[in-house]
Amino acid sequence: MKQYNHFYVDGGLAASNGASHIPVVSPMTEQIIGEVRSCSPEDVQRAIASAQKTLPAWASSSLADRKALLVRLRAEIEKRTEAFAESLAREMGCPVWLGCAMQVPMGLRGLDFAIEGIDAITWTERVGNGLVQRVPVGVVAAITPWNFPLHQIVAKVAAAIAAGCTTVLKPSEVSPGAGQLFIEAIHASGAPAGLVNLVWGGADVGHALVTSPSINKISFTGSTNVGRQIMAAAAENLTPVTLELGGKSAAVILDDADLDLAITAVARLALVNAGQACVSQSRLIAPSRLVPEIVDRVRAALKAWPMGDPMSAETRLGPVATVSQFGHINRMIEQARAGGARLCTGGDGATSKQSQGWFVPPTLFSDVTPDMDIAQKEVFGPVLALMGYDSVTDAIRLANSTRYGLSGAVWSADVAQAAAFASQMTTGQVVINGAPQNLATPFGGVGDSGFGRENGRFGIEELLTYRAVHGSEALS
Ligand code: NAD
Repeated sequence: MKQYNHFYVDGGLAASNGASHIPVVSPMTEQIIGEVRSCSPEDVQRAIASAQKTLPAWASSSLADRKALLVRLRAEIEKRTEAFAESLAREMGCPVWLGCAMQVPMGLRGLDFAIEGIDAITWTERVGNGLVQRVPVGVVAAITPWNFPLHQIVAKVAAAIAAGCTTVLKPSEVSPGAGQLFIEAIHASGAPAGLVNLVWGGADVGHALVTSPSINKISFTGSTNVGRQIMAAAAENLTPVTLELGGKSAAVILDDADLDLAITAVARLALVNAGQACVSQSRLIAPSRLVPEIVDRVRAALKAWPMGDPMSAETRLGPVATVSQFGHINRMIEQARAGGARLCTGGDGATSKQSQGWFVPPTLFSDVTPDMDIAQKEVFGPVLALMGYDSVTDAIRLANSTRYGLSGAVWSADVAQAAAFASQMTTGQVVINGAPQNLATPFGGVGDSGFGRENGRFGIEELLTYRAVHGSEALS
């Protein structure tokens, strides 16, 4: 059994002293495979003090030193690719090949773009008699979820290193292996003591971090509900927050789209990581006249998603990560059926429960209306909701009909038409015709998907503030 009972502080490991022991449960075997010993309030304070102590030196470090450290960190993470992928497969059910092909490469690309981002920032700028400087915000509390744990940790910690900030990281207690391996890579890369610290725990440890007056910035990725709680808690100390929250993204098929291309890609974007992606395209909006054909095509596409052991190279759809996710997804499916949506394929995982594992089959609903929960709430599972439209105006209204605004997709043979549609979507990003996600561009949402941006230079800028020095013409 894996023990996560040492936090990382002052450049070394220290035994955690918290009261809670949080089990890590295999989504495949449903057995306890590890345990997280949470940090005590004193441990959290120690980690924050460690980050504070290192801040002045790192804030004045050279850009060359920051880049060199990120390059070494990248190499240390790459060396551990298989270990990351195995840990993700064991702890959250992501197929091991997908960990190697997607989860770890996303983290590596995140590092590449943070390194490049350093050079893209205007660190000083003269405005009249003022010298405008970009300066680090200070100590960053980085709180991350379990679904793309390495990528999300990198998005925050690499940006903080690049910005000249120090960090206290609290990874998810659901997939702690990624946090542990990341800290091993930090240590092996020769990061200065106190630059990056790690604390273990759940909501209580996260709360201790976000309410500390010594934290200068909170960078949170997770659910909208917890994001709301964090923003309220941060108000006491007026601590600025970045919130990367949930989504209910729409893939919109325009009349002239190539369905051969679109449907395979839409299925992939809805099902990858068992649908547990914040940018999952969980709503499919298509011309009403094409709905019967699209139902047939999606059904066929979903057959190419065999469920199974995440350790097997044949598996495309692993189990969902936790028993509470399993319950939530099944309830959403049952509610959609009861509410009048038509189940075209799949269904709840409880009815078809295999002897072990939290498996939910790839599921398609049609006849979905925008007022249904399945069209409004995040399922975070392999479930696609299909809605028909009769005019482009109607399609835009449907696409923008949720409180979320993280991502979206448009499919059309005419790129100009797709771009015109994209410009009317109230989301942080839109993908045209399945283009790959560019991790150098700003990533984040609007509405219930949060605010603030990550990735590349934009993620670094999120952790910088301005200082204007007046009467400094002699400097430059
Ligand atoms: P979660 O909100 O339950 O937990 C996220 C993190 O917050 C965990 O580390 C958790 O321990 C911590 N936490 C929980 N309660 C807290 C509190 N009161 N104060 C401080 N910290 C607290 O989310 P999750 O279940 O780990 O992840 C799934 C959610 O994350 C989904 O809603 C998904 O859409 C969202 N997500 C968003 C993005 C994005 O970039 N927008 C990316 C991935 C996941």
